[in-house]
Amino acid sequence: MAGRRLILATENPHKVREIRELLADVAVEVLHLGDLSDPPELTETGETFADNAREKALAVARATGEPALADDSGLMVDALGGDPGVRSARYAGAGASGEQLVAKLLAEMADVPDGQRGARFVCALSLCAPEGEVGRWEGRVEGVITREPRGDGGFGYDPVFRYPPDGVTFAQMTPDRKNAVSHRGRALRAFRADLPRVLRRRR
Ligand code: IMP
Repeated sequence: MAGRRLILATENPHKVREIRELLADVAVEVLHLGDLSDPPELTETGETFADNAREKALAVARATGEPALADDSGLMVDALGGDPGVRSARYAGAGASGEQLVAKLLAEMADVPDGQRGARFVCALSLCAPEGEVGRWEGRVEGVITREPRGDGGFGYDPVFRYPPDGVTFAQMTPDRKNAVSHRGRALRAFRADLPRVLRRRR
């Protein structure tokens, strides 16, 4: 990885913070779109998290000539046939806040009985060089959608995503605990474990 810099193809400050924490012990300088003087417009036109992550990482790698890592993630709810899925960020309209996303999800699920409220967070990561995709990784975590928001940590759907082994929502966890069990944490640890191999290949 030339110069050992990695550009994150995201402007989401929550994702940047989580990714930086998880890569803190890796000898790579982690930048993000906000650090670029002329960042490219990112689009998500794919039907899968993996396709969208690749689209974003490739756009940034091509625009900068440097390796880029993109995360595409979202919530898949069983009772909604896998929705909101790749549309998680825009489920309540463009630019909706976390509170609006949560309110929309709880309204859609008002009639879904306990026992049928299973869901998972999915995170796809794509590492791209200007010539194309270098690797991809995925992490998932299973949970249950609550009937009302709980906790004020995290972001997005965290207040209504209960993690059964801990009996609390992601918004009630410390950042360290969320990173230890989350979809993004799992995907990033898989990425981090592969990094020596990926760096060797690109030397
Ligand atoms: P994108 O990956 O930027 O397209 O958007 C993913 C969307 O999924 C976010 O805006 C959140 O609404 C939701 N999401 C992804 N990861 C998390 C998470 O860790 N907690 C809560 N919501 C998440």
